[in-house]
Amino acid sequence: MVRPKPSPETIGLQHLMVVEPLELEILCALKRNSDSVVIVDMILEKRTFESFVIEHKPDILCVTGYITNVSTIISYCESAKKISDKILSIVGGVHCEVCPEDFESEFIDFRVVRNAAVIFTDLLNHIDKKTELPKGAFRKEDSLANTALPSYNFSIPFPDRNSVAKYRDKYFYIFHAKVALMKTSFGCPFQCSFCFCRVITGGKYHQRPLHEVIQELEQIKETEIYMVDDDFLFDRKWLQSFISAIKQRNIRKHFLVYGRADFIADNSDIMHQLAQIGLRTVIVGFESFSDKELDKYNKKIPVETYKETMAVLNREKIDVFATIIIPPDWDRSDFKNMVDVIKSLGIHFVNLQPLTPLPKTEVRFPEDQIIIDKLNYPQWDLAHITVQPTKLSVADFYQEILNAYNSILYSPGVLWKYFTTYSPVMLFKMLAGGYRVTKQYKRKIKEAKKHA
Ligand code: SF4
Repeated sequence: MVRPKPSPETIGLQHLMVVEPLELEILCALKRNSDSVVIVDMILEKRTFESFVIEHKPDILCVTGYITNVSTIISYCESAKKISDKILSIVGGVHCEVCPEDFESEFIDFRVVRNAAVIFTDLLNHIDKKTELPKGAFRKEDSLANTALPSYNFSIPFPDRNSVAKYRDKYFYIFHAKVALMKTSFGCPFQCSFCFCRVITGGKYHQRPLHEVIQELEQIKETEIYMVDDDFLFDRKWLQSFISAIKQRNIRKHFLVYGRADFIADNSDIMHQLAQIGLRTVIVGFESFSDKELDKYNKKIPVETYKETMAVLNREKIDVFATIIIPPDWDRSDFKNMVDVIKSLGIHFVNLQPLTPLPKTEVRFPEDQIIIDKLNYPQWDLAHITVQPTKLSVADFYQEILNAYNSILYSPGVLWKYFTTYSPVMLFKMLAGGYRVTKQYKRKIKEAKKHA
């Protein structure tokens, strides 16, 4: 099982975070007793992919990834088959589930399009013992259009975390060392127009039973837990039970979660209790500081809520990572306004994402405004500008993004906070990662000027 290496063309986050390949660990838990599995994390490995194929001589190669990994995944399958045409390839992951057509390739034998964590063992049996092909998996020759998909089933086994034992110490997320991932729910009940997460679950929302979540949590050795739910802060009742169970069982962890600004503002009592049981950081999709834009995104949160959101988080000393969407019609004053509001709200860490019409979301632009080819997958990373800016040149738009990052992340007050809060090793890692991202943006600006 292989987690692909990001292309050097992809801007970003891999310089600031490398987290465990949870989906492969889940598949690993579904292997049969007769199977032996090796997970190769190509983000961390220095060796070539081919060298692992030659060393392990697999019968089956499984690869999962995101939109930015599509070409790499296909090239891995091709390379494996060149080494031995007996190797069968299985591809899955969130992009394959939403856009399986992108993996139509002579080098890919099976695509897992629905309920991978339920059907994987049956798929192995199908390959090995010629049992029936489970619904949700497609052979190379199967027609995607004419085969019905089963309904969603969100059951998952406990991931086999030992399967990445040799990598575990190296997983980190922005200022958090040795991070483990966990999922307590799937999907999100909201309907933001730009959001790919809700497309993955077909708009459905499913919470795992609390006893299962607590049992899994108790088995995790790491203290830092990154809850990779699309929206962890949703259900007051569930969260209250979660808080009680953590207290009762005396579980001592630090949590990093995704949550909506309105939940935080409206549920200060829950946020207080969550802070007490270890909530350290919340990633909040603020998206915009304009009600007009928020309406367009169907965010269903008025901007005025954000003051209360930040008041609650600051009171509880919970760090916030803010994501902001930058639509192509922004001019310099819009960038300035965004930076001013971010600073006035006391937000120290941001992820600035140019509005990107990801496939099958509700964000659409006319073809002639799309400036990155759909097949140039590594650049569909939510950091590249994919839609022609209307008021600035592409180079100036990138420059404004870079200026905004510099102004927010490297202001004296924020630097002081970094130096007084985090370990020198983590600080060095983050500064080095930030430097690499800056270099990538500078290269983009140079390229854009050349093509102007
Ligand atoms: S609240 Fe977050 S996860 Fe839910 S639809 Fe909106 S952006 Fe997606």
